[in-house]
Amino acid sequence: MAQQRAHHFSQILLADGWARDVRIVCTGGVCASIAIEVPASAGDERHTIGIPGLPNLHSHAFQRGMAGLAERRGLTDDSFWTWRDVMYRFVDRIRPEDLQAIAALAFIEMLESGFTRVGEFHYLHHDIDGIANANLAIMAEALVAAAHDTGIALTLLPVFYAHSGFGGLAPQFGQRRFICDLEQFGRLLEGAAAAVATLPDGIVGVAPHSLRAVTADELKRLLTMSPTGPVHIHIAEQIREVEDCVHATGVRPVEWLLDTVAVDERWCLVHATHMTDDEARRLAATGAVAGLCPITEANLGDGIFNAGPFLSAGGRYGIGSDSNILIDATEELRWLEYGQRLADCARNCLSTGQGASTGGGVFATALAGGGQALGASSTLAVGAPLDFLTLTADHPSLADRTNEDILDSWIFAAGRCAIDSVWRRGERVVSEGAHRYRPRIEQRYRGVVRRLLA
Ligand SMILES: [Zn+2]
Repeated sequence: MAQQRAHHFSQILLADGWARDVRIVCTGGVCASIAIEVPASAGDERHTIGIPGLPNLHSHAFQRGMAGLAERRGLTDDSFWTWRDVMYRFVDRIRPEDLQAIAALAFIEMLESGFTRVGEFHYLHHDIDGIANANLAIMAEALVAAAHDTGIALTLLPVFYAHSGFGGLAPQFGQRRFICDLEQFGRLLEGAAAAVATLPDGIVGVAPHSLRAVTADELKRLLTMSPTGPVHIHIAEQIREVEDCVHATGVRPVEWLLDTVAVDERWCLVHATHMTDDEARRLAATGAVAGLCPITEANLGDGIFNAGPFLSAGGRYGIGSDSNILIDATEELRWLEYGQRLADCARNCLSTGQGASTGGGVFATALAGGGQALGASSTLAVGAPLDFLTLTADHPSLADRTNEDILDSWIFAAGRCAIDSVWRRGERVVSEGAHRYRPRIEQRYRGVVRRLLA
């Protein structure tokens, strides 16, 4: 018989809003029942403030290993493209066991900061010389092993990457570990799906890397290879990318994608930074999710998302840690709002209406959008995995807070240090801010980084 345990919360954010004195019975990692306004029973695990864990919809876990190593000014104007050169040099040395060690550290930092599911946009496929491994999915298996090591829920998004630029340009030397043809990618996808099937709540999608890396024909054939499940793509992150797209196709990237394939609720357009108002409204109408990564977009100098017309048209978004330069759910949400404030010289830009809480709005939108983009439930409801965080009610910034004021004060004032514990499938994986396996995962990570940087 599956293990059963009950939790009692003084306040918790459920699927239909905040509730008091809530008792959740967890059976086999899943919410079996939720009762509201009931007292705790003897033996219940007691919590003061509970909120659902957030989905992190976009990560390249291996990049955690180079965080902070591209922050020196170069000879020429630094840009996304000079950062990418550093990334390509780092990537050249990573073997499967290195990837597992780096990803495990990134995943425990995600859990510690409030993310309970990650969408891993995975393009590091081949051996260090660029030759395909006998087991094509060996690097995907390393990511799955890191998810097993840490307990995080994984949506794996194997990336199809074939070209270096618009018009099917031949790949560059630095991209040799990423490149597949469609036949090889089909086998890789099968192997990745078999690995993910070993995880509780594991999901597989597919990710055409970007419009630079796939042709229209390849994109259409890729969609037939993965007819259900999430579809993620990097798009319109950089102005040069928009210019190259206009030069090659006559139209802008988001416009081209919407004209070329049937974008729907399965899709997540990662960044979508440089959209005209018309593109933003058209994207919103598809029901697809915009995958926003404010910390990375600031770090790489990408630009600021055109939120006004997108949200006015009912657009959906979620947040991602992308380059993992800094892993922190509240900081992503805070910078999402602050970017808009700085651009518009205004306040409470992402609030959903007069009097509505901005923290409550960005949290609820990122929760729903992230869940949709990763093909998983993200709210606390019967039948869903019991994934939640507890906040420490004695943090001074949370003193006497209730309902949405808790989220405003957590996101804008307290930050991640107010997280007390994190639970995945009803099991405590983080206590007093630290993952239960942090010492051993951190030690393994230090050994790998020492070798990679030697
Ligand atoms: Zn990315």
